[in-house]
Amino acid sequence: MISFSYAQVAVATPLNQLFTYRIPSALQNQIKQGARVVVPFRRKQVLGFCIALSDQPPSDFSADKLKEILEVKDETPVFSEKMLELLQWLSDYYLAPLGEICRAALPTRLTQVKTPSQTKPRLKEEEHSIFHQAEPLQLMEGQKEALQKLIDRFQSFSELCSREGEAPTALPAEGATRAPIKSAFQNPSQPILLHGITGSGKTEVYLQFLNKVLESGKEAILLVPEIGLTPQLIGRVQSRLQSNVAIYHSGLSDTWRQIYWEKMREGSVKVAVGTRSALFAPFKNLGAIIIDEEHDPSYKQTEGGFYYNARDAAILRAKLEKAVVVLGSATPSLETFYNTKRGKYEYIALPERATGATLPEVQLIDLKQEKLAPDSKTLSPTLKAAISENLYRGEQSLLFLDRRGFANFLLCQDCGHVLKCKNCAISLTYHKYPPSLVCHYCDYHTRLPEKCPECQSSALKLLGEGTEMLEEELKNLFPTARIVRLDRDTAGKREHRHEVLHQMKKGEVDILLGTQIVAKGHDFPNVTLVGVILADQSLFLPDFRSSERTFQLLTQVAGRSGRGDKPGKVLIQTFQPEHFALQCTRQHDFKRFAEEELQQRESLCYPPFSRLAQIRLQGSDGDKVKKGALNLKNFLGRKKWEKDPPVIMGPVKSPLAKVRGKHRWQILIKAFKVKELLWLLRQAQTQSKEMLPAGVQIQIDVDCLNLM
Ligand code: ADP
Ligand code: ZN
Ligand code: ZN
Repeated sequence: MISFSYAQVAVATPLNQLFTYRIPSALQNQIKQGARVVVPFRRKQVLGFCIALSDQPPSDFSADKLKEILEVKDETPVFSEKMLELLQWLSDYYLAPLGEICRAALPTRLTQVKTPSQTKPRLKEEEHSIFHQAEPLQLMEGQKEALQKLIDRFQSFSELCSREGEAPTALPAEGATRAPIKSAFQNPSQPILLHGITGSGKTEVYLQFLNKVLESGKEAILLVPEIGLTPQLIGRVQSRLQSNVAIYHSGLSDTWRQIYWEKMREGSVKVAVGTRSALFAPFKNLGAIIIDEEHDPSYKQTEGGFYYNARDAAILRAKLEKAVVVLGSATPSLETFYNTKRGKYEYIALPERATGATLPEVQLIDLKQEKLAPDSKTLSPTLKAAISENLYRGEQSLLFLDRRGFANFLLCQDCGHVLKCKNCAISLTYHKYPPSLVCHYCDYHTRLPEKCPECQSSALKLLGEGTEMLEEELKNLFPTARIVRLDRDTAGKREHRHEVLHQMKKGEVDILLGTQIVAKGHDFPNVTLVGVILADQSLFLPDFRSSERTFQLLTQVAGRSGRGDKPGKVLIQTFQPEHFALQCTRQHDFKRFAEEELQQRESLCYPPFSRLAQIRLQGSDGDKVKKGALNLKNFLGRKKWEKDPPVIMGPVKSPLAKVRGKHRWQILIKAFKVKELLWLLRQAQTQSKEMLPAGVQIQIDVDCLNLM
């Protein structure tokens, strides 16, 4: 066995570089690539990850100056070679320190210098399946075809692997004949888009496919967006899959995270279901990754750590590990859809609902024509009447308003002053339960003032209806109805949310109202009316994706209606009924929406016709931030390009110009080649020390989804 004397180690610091350490001879036989180590770093002992081993010291260092590794924590490395490759790629692409990415890919307990002793977990796992249906459904024609295509693809991988001399995986025979294998020649790691309308039975296809993968002895990951991890889905997955399942959700304790991680690594749990971080499940023999609701913005991490897109990272992982990758959505992102159009991804459609139900009839209510009902601040007479009729028929209604709290802002009718957060450039939302003005960005709370702080007038008015106001109104208008509100304020506790969804399913709720939490993923067969209180909210955000977001959101909400035996109806209140995003929602016409939106994107060279990155500069001194932004822009603009140069836009004040006391400016870079984009961003990153005044921080977001 060769032993190495030097190790390159990634430590979790903001510095995007590796450090070389000497390996004392006692540890030379223990240390492996991908293992955790303890190293001295700036007079502290920190946890690091051994990225590479070598028998030569780095050329610019004399060997005796190097510090020594203190401890090797793993006999079996926590990261496989392929996983390290993935992490390295993420580090290069998202310009984030490898050490931080390594940390993000592990359960917290494994990232500590001293591994805490395991506290005894509760024996029972936290989730129960509340809906039990252990038998697979008889698939509809379309579902069958889709499933067969996935299986063929999986098969072609096995073919490829066995040709390469890897262990072949025997696939259980599917009926008497097996579909011919086009395979190997058709690029096996080509992602597949499963574009199925809401209720088309995508989940059923995933489950049956995953069982095939499991039967062949391989492992699988099912990624879902934050909101998508409903008790319903968890129940379905647990009762149907032929393996124990690791469920990753935000409420999962550190202890459970570690337990699941270890079980996956030793092979006793073969499926991981969950949000972003499930992507890093430590499987050795990964067969498939499914990314449900692939368009969902919550796949993009935009806080703490590094800003990566779990969907894109998953596609790469699948490629590295020769696993099948399936992207599912009723409203694919334009990036993904465009990739199917130019042949980069395969396209499979499920254009019908699996239960035979038809898509609901969608009606747009023009609030310019039809004024709100005289006794309401939220409902038009048409919507109000529809709710009433639904109650009378004993059917359920679901109302969507994407704004929590009671009122959006407090306005002085004398001087026009709007009460803002003192830390953020954002108006304060009035909450009635308990009464206070709250900042939705930094959680600053204050009491409702009696007088305007600017002019002392007492003519203060609450404007902009939120879910609390809607709830209060509904209770007044329909006193006998059983009304439940679900938003981040009421759904703070998972148990409560699960309870409400359970009640809904059992028919103990007449009207469910809420924010995006109610809009996505649920399957309530008795909901026959969906009402959207104001569609315009997302339409006017200063973001080139605002039409896309609106279309996606409305299509999702609309898809909650008429999923069972009775036909459904959707009423959307708006000031912009002529907007094409709304028109396409009304006609359930994704294709037309995509064509039109793609044309606009192309004419403006926005993604998917270019790559977009944001450089955000922030600091507590607004002038310094601005100065730094201008410096950096000038610096980046100096480079001369041959043709199709990247476009550097800004700097401009961010639409959310101040958050948590930090002023924000941004530079956007549009580029046609990834290489050029990354080159510029790397310049910005390495030069930021010189370009930016003290106290101004730089944050780089590649393929940014959030332009605020
Ligand atoms: P999606 O994930 O596309 O929204 P689901 O898989 O949740 O769709 O299916 C929607 C509903 O249709 C569910 O209630 C599911 O049980 C039902 N369903 C799915 N496939 C079938 C089928 N082949 N036959 C009957 N019902 C089905
Ligand atoms: Zn005033
Ligand atoms: Zn604030």
